[in-house]
Amino acid sequence: MPEPGADNWPRMPGSTGSCPGSDRATACSWSARISFPAPILGIRAIPGSRRFPWPCSSMPGWSSPIRPRGASGRNALPSGPSIGHGRNRIVGGTIRGPRFRRAGPETTLSSFGCDDGQRRRRRRTDTDEGVGMSAEVGGGDVGGRHEGSPFDDLAVAVGEGEPLAPHTWLGVGGPAAWFCEPVDVAALGRVVKRCQERSIPLRVIGGGSNVLVPAAGFAGMVVRLSAPAFSTIEVQGSAVLAGAGAKLVHVVAAAVQAGLSGLETLVGIPGTVGGALVGNAGGRGGDIGDTVRSVTVMNPDGSVVERGGAELTFGSRWSNLDDVIVIGCRLELEAEDADLLTKRMQKRWIVDRTEQPAGVRTVAMMFKDPHGSTAEALVTQAGAREIRVGEASIHGPRSNYVVAQPGCTSDDVRLLVEQVRARVRERLGVELTPQIELW
Ligand SMILES: Cc1cc2nc3c(=O)[nH]c(=O)nc-3n(C[C@H](O)[C@H](O)[C@H](O)COP(=O)(O)OP(=O)(O)OC[C@H]3O[C@@H](n4cnc5c(N)ncnc54)[C@H](O)[C@@H]3O)c2cc1C
Repeated sequence: MPEPGADNWPRMPGSTGSCPGSDRATACSWSARISFPAPILGIRAIPGSRRFPWPCSSMPGWSSPIRPRGASGRNALPSGPSIGHGRNRIVGGTIRGPRFRRAGPETTLSSFGCDDGQRRRRRRTDTDEGVGMSAEVGGGDVGGRHEGSPFDDLAVAVGEGEPLAPHTWLGVGGPAAWFCEPVDVAALGRVVKRCQERSIPLRVIGGGSNVLVPAAGFAGMVVRLSAPAFSTIEVQGSAVLAGAGAKLVHVVAAAVQAGLSGLETLVGIPGTVGGALVGNAGGRGGDIGDTVRSVTVMNPDGSVVERGGAELTFGSRWSNLDDVIVIGCRLELEAEDADLLTKRMQKRWIVDRTEQPAGVRTVAMMFKDPHGSTAEALVTQAGAREIRVGEASIHGPRSNYVVAQPGCTSDDVRLLVEQVRARVRERLGVELTPQIELW
């Protein structure tokens, strides 16, 4: 079996791709992952303004029959502000546990760069390996003494040993040495700059629908742009301005609601605007890159610039945005009748639902469609649908999707994708390119 590194797996620069050890898959609810925008549900939305704060389902005049996760019962949020969980939890500004570090003499939520968007319990699963993370990967106790974190003086909440599995669709993989959800661009800039100064590898996680985290986790900083400052959606004439952390489905719904066409065929694609731009997400109806006018990015030194025109390249499921942090974008769309657009979007949504695995939650798309064919057809023709590795298997009818069953490890998924790829190469002479990115 070829080792990762010599196999064209998509990876971020700096990745070792090693997957030692094992980890287990988790299950979390499908409805928690996709929140349905009102137009998809056939609800007429009458927003009072054309600015759409995240989440879209809480727009004025919008309502959703989907009960917000954690509103009551077992998942209810505590009354005080809280981030992290268990030993690592910050409640009401007090740090509980060793893995979040005090930012200064006056430790308050605002001094940590926290806000309401981050006051939540992290989903806890059976893959919470971060709790036992060793000092070699993150900070932590070294010989009974607690070493300082490189981020201690930044006034930004930085977690150590954060399990990444709950942040991904597959629900497998180990922890991040450091994890941060900055409250705004300034806080993000401080973290990014510090990573460059200390040569700490940094990655961004969006919706986690296209990443496979190794069991060893990621020995660097993982940033998630979940704060409201990164998730705004605003319609300006025929343009939509969207933050990188906004869910793609919410941006599509906002555009359709405003009578702007160009995004409606992307309605079934999970994940965030940032992830969609980096991978030029799309399908038969077009790609997001077709609509991009400009993208605001942060460079590794923390500087923020706008890229447009010839500075942007979008190809088949890739873009030249893989060396920066995407902060937001301006999409230029065409005016069209909102009712027609809504119908088209709903139709697309239904088609996408039939083409994606139904009834399973921990899935990922394995391969990009090669020119003139589909990965699904090739996997089926090569007789690779029956391949199974550990608890990783192929979703029966939707054979371009890997499913991580409970107990699945990151290695199970990686090996399954490699075996399927080898089978297609041997039997059909076609080299499939992985869609899912191995960290
Ligand atoms: C059921 C299912 C159906 C899918 N259907 C489609 C489809 O029809 N078409 C399609 O193209 N894809 C599809 N995908 C793949 C995936 O949903 C897309 O690639 C999606 O755009 C990934 O977005 P994300 O936010 O989840 O990114 P993630 O998986 O979190 O990240 C993907 C990559 O983008 C980088 N990234 C994310 N945000 C940023 C940022 N702000 N700045 C810099 N880098 C960033 C990450 O570091 C990583 O390298 C599907 C996946 C699933 C599970």
